[in-house]
Amino acid sequence: MKEGGRAVELRLSKVNMSFGPVSVLQDLDLEVYKGEFLTLLGPSGCGKTTTLNLIAGFFPPYTGSIEIGGVDVTADPAYRRNTAMVFQNYALFPHLTVAGNVSFGLRMRATVPKAEMPKRVAAALDLVKMGGMQGRYPHELSGGQQQRVALARALVVEPALLLLDEPLSNLDKNLREGMQIELRNLQRTINVTTILVTHDQEEAFVVSDRVAVMHEGRLEQLGTPTEIYRAPRTQAVANFIGRMNWLKGRIVAPNTFEGALGGGTNLRTPVKTQAATGTEGFLLLRPEHVRLSASPTGNAHEVRGKILSQVYLGSVTHHYVKVGDATIIAYQAGAPGAAMEAAHLSWPESELSFMPATDAARRGD
Ligand code: ATP
Repeated sequence: MKEGGRAVELRLSKVNMSFGPVSVLQDLDLEVYKGEFLTLLGPSGCGKTTTLNLIAGFFPPYTGSIEIGGVDVTADPAYRRNTAMVFQNYALFPHLTVAGNVSFGLRMRATVPKAEMPKRVAAALDLVKMGGMQGRYPHELSGGQQQRVALARALVVEPALLLLDEPLSNLDKNLREGMQIELRNLQRTINVTTILVTHDQEEAFVVSDRVAVMHEGRLEQLGTPTEIYRAPRTQAVANFIGRMNWLKGRIVAPNTFEGALGGGTNLRTPVKTQAATGTEGFLLLRPEHVRLSASPTGNAHEVRGKILSQVYLGSVTHHYVKVGDATIIAYQAGAPGAAMEAAHLSWPESELSFMPATDAARRGD
């Protein structure tokens, strides 16, 4: 159960799932450490919720195994697993008070003496900042408060695994951002192993120790937010996590990329890579690392471009710049400066990376 010194709380091994002829998960391997906050992140339909439902035991996998706390639970139904789920739509019982909703799981499990239940319910409500609200009914609560109660209902049973299925997506933006930070702090305080499903990259980055990026039923990449952002391993990951400029070319000498951008523009720049000379692929450049300047910067590797459009978003402006036949996106902080038609583009070499064409097309492994 220990892996590299850390206890593994959940292990999925070669999990496959199909609904009728439709294959939804393919050979999914995943380990979640005890006390970790892990997020399943990916576009709609990639299989995140199916994965969470399999962990909860709502249905068995087609093939493969699921272990919780070192015990094989693949054949166990949901009520025999020590997991608790919070859903997007709160799913509170409308006819029960807050106390009735929160104690529901305790009563079902019958593991806590009845006399102790009010104390446990009060403690769970305190954790989610809903202390003293025991007597309210769900219709007397805001959406955010209902979701806090749903969270308390899950936490009160002290599950080995807390499963969260897009629990914040019904909340408005400001409330959602506040709740993300609260959720993160709460999880750190009580240390419950937590798995969140979301398609919101920012949310995943705010709350998670590690993020599992899924694409078409496969695990594309598993890593910390920084690893996923700075070193995406496939095109699917690079495109789903933030924006990325892709410039086609090849490695022409050790740590040297060259690409013809069209219109006679040639880009030759140093890039740190293990790829051998002759490898075809892409230079990867995040928009926030592109510097724009009206006059030459003196940087030996800069290129010239023509600004096509500028989109002002408040804290940042997105510039679309034509370089040869390619369009490079550049983010600059604040409002657009004086109108600039021609621009000189440069970037810190340390922020460039190279992805071989074979990796870009690779499926998750
Ligand atoms: P979303 O964010 O939209 O919920 P998701 O990544 O959570 O997406 P899943 O809900 O796991 O994706 O669905 C994965 C695929 O499985 C989808 O193509 C979906 O239509 C299909 N699917 C899910 N549940 C069922 C079911 N009970 N019967 C048939 N197909 C299903």
